[in-house]
Amino acid sequence: MKRIAVLTSGGDAPGMNAAIRAVVRSGYYHGLEVYGVYRGYTGLIQGDIEKMELGTVGDIIHRGGTVLYSSRCEEFKTEAGRQKAVEQLKKHQIDGLVVIGGDGSFQGAKKLTALGFPTIGVPGTIDNDIPATDFTIGFDTAVNTVVECIDKIRDTATSHERTYIVEVMGRDAGDIALWAGLADGAESILIPEAPYQIDEIVERLQRSSERGKKHSIIIVAEGVGSGLDVADKITDRLGWETRVTVLGHVQRGGSPTAFDRVLASRMGAKAVELLLSGQRDMMVAIRNNDVIGIDFDEALSQKHQPRMELYDLAKILSI
Ligand code: ADP
Repeated sequence: MKRIAVLTSGGDAPGMNAAIRAVVRSGYYHGLEVYGVYRGYTGLIQGDIEKMELGTVGDIIHRGGTVLYSSRCEEFKTEAGRQKAVEQLKKHQIDGLVVIGGDGSFQGAKKLTALGFPTIGVPGTIDNDIPATDFTIGFDTAVNTVVECIDKIRDTATSHERTYIVEVMGRDAGDIALWAGLADGAESILIPEAPYQIDEIVERLQRSSERGKKHSIIIVAEGVGSGLDVADKITDRLGWETRVTVLGHVQRGGSPTAFDRVLASRMGAKAVELLLSGQRDMMVAIRNNDVIGIDFDEALSQKHQPRMELYDLAKILSI
C-alpha cells in the first residue's frame, strides 16, 4: 500500500478535522502518500481529489466542521455511482480509503468494499448512534454544548419560575438527551428508546414544585417528537406556563473538546494501521477505552442502544 485517501461524509461533527489530521500525519509517518477527497462521496464520484501534505492539516485540530467539506450523495447509492467512484480511486492510484462519517456513510463504505476496494470507517457523528463503539467523534462536544446552553436556560427558568422544555438533536438515538440530561439534573429526559408516560412527568413536576423548586427542565430528544407537543400536554394537565427551546444546529458546531480531539486522533491513526495491516472492510471503534477494528458486517448488523442504566440513574437522582 502506497497511497491512501480520506473523506468526510454525512452530517458533520466536531473532531472530524482532528481525525483527518491523524490520518494524514500517521499516513506520512508510515511512508504513505495521503490524498483528501472533497465533499464526501460526491467528490469521490467527481474526482475532486487532492494530495494532502503534512502542513495541509496544520492548525485544524481545534476547529469544528470539516476542512474536506461534507455532503449527502444520492448517486453513490446506485451501483453505477459507486463504479464511478472506484474508477476515480484507480485513476488516482489510491490503494485504500478512510471514510469519516455516520452509519449512512458506513453503509456506503461497506458497498465500496464489496467492489473490492479496501475501506475503513471512522465513526464521526454527534448522535453517538453507531453500534459497536462506546463513543463517536463529536458526541462529547455536542453534549457539552447542550449542557452549556441548558445552564443558561436554567438561569432564566429560575428567575421566572418556569418550566422549560429543551429539544435536542440525536436523530433516532437518545444519547445526547440522556447524557446532557444527567449532566444538567433535568427533571425528566425523554428518549426514543424508552416510551414516556405524560402522567409520570406531570407527577414528577408536581412533586418538585411541592418541595419548593422554582423551575424545571425537561429534555426531549428529537427522535421522540416535537418539544412543543410535550409542552402542550404539560400545560393542558397543569395549566403551567412553559417555554420551549429547540437548540438545533448549534449542537453540530464549535471547537471539539479535548476528549473528542484525543478520540479522533486515536481513531484516525488506527484506521491507517488497519489499512497497512491488510484489513479491507472494517470500522474503528472504542470499547472500554481500547481503540479496535471491527468488521463492518458485525458492526452494522448490531442495533445501537444507549446505556440505559444512565436513564435509570437520572430518574433516581431527580426523584
Ligand atoms: P451519516 O453518515 O451522517 O449517517 P447519511 O445517512 O446522510 O449520513 O449518509 C451519507 C451518505 O452515505 C449518503 O448521502 C450516501 O451517499 C451514502 N449512503 C447512505 N446510505 C447508503 C446506502 N444504503 N448505500 C450506499 N450509500 C449510502
